[in-house]
Amino acid sequence: MRIPLVGFAGADRWENPPLNLPNNFKNWIPTEFWPRSIYPETETVIVIGLPVQLPIVETAPSIFYHELYKTVNSLLDLKAYELSEILNQKGFASIYIPRDGYGDIDILLKNPLTFFSHRHAAYLSGLGSFGQNNVILTPEYGPRVRFTSIFTSAVIESDPIHGDDLCTRCLRCIDECPVNAIPPLPSSDKNVFPEIIDKISCAKRSKSLREKYTSPCGICIKVCPIGKDRKLFSRENMDIYNSSERFKKYKNAWNHVKSYGGHE
Ligand code: SF4
Ligand code: SF4
Repeated sequence: MRIPLVGFAGADRWENPPLNLPNNFKNWIPTEFWPRSIYPETETVIVIGLPVQLPIVETAPSIFYHELYKTVNSLLDLKAYELSEILNQKGFASIYIPRDGYGDIDILLKNPLTFFSHRHAAYLSGLGSFGQNNVILTPEYGPRVRFTSIFTSAVIESDPIHGDDLCTRCLRCIDECPVNAIPPLPSSDKNVFPEIIDKISCAKRSKSLREKYTSPCGICIKVCPIGKDRKLFSRENMDIYNSSERFKKYKNAWNHVKSYGGHE
């Protein structure tokens, strides 16, 4: 199915989290968000991830990233539904979970949670660790990947969790967030799980961009140095995001894209 990231996590990982998790949680996931609280027949959660292409994220906020986001979301839903149906036809009762799970940003402004967290599912299936920006960082794409999940009654061996905390605490996401939604480092202890970001401020920014047809924001995933996709796209030198003359051709390209297809 040409899905580059796939992880498997037994439903019992929500109930008895492994000891070798990459981040230390202050509070574990509440019971009502566990897979078996939502679909009691769940034995395994299958998590699939599709990348968002870095050179397009670099134009964000823009119509270019806006369209990419919609495309990746649609593909995730399609592939997850298809995969759940393949499993059903093989006799393993399965359901897919939509990648977002909220009707509108106005809903998130009142209650900034969804009924299931794909990020935590990705984490528990060994696909990555949480970054300071509260997004899952993967070795392959850093935070530039979107996930969705399938709950299945099939018993499948869980993937190993390597326990590597990929976030370097470089502070770029904190410094670049235009609404200061990402809290500063809570301590010098690299293993302390980052504070929860200010989801309301982030959602407000997303809402304002949506009115211009340029949502989502994407800045904190653009500036994260983690991910092999940086090498693929020749973006390992992070000075590309500074005001260096050397990278002027990129800035010209981004400004050109930003000038069309959305409101200022
Ligand atoms: S998406 Fe934008 S507003 Fe939200 S935390 Fe990231 S940089 Fe800040
Ligand atoms: S930008 Fe830096 S601090 Fe933020 S998530 Fe990425 S590595 Fe961590």
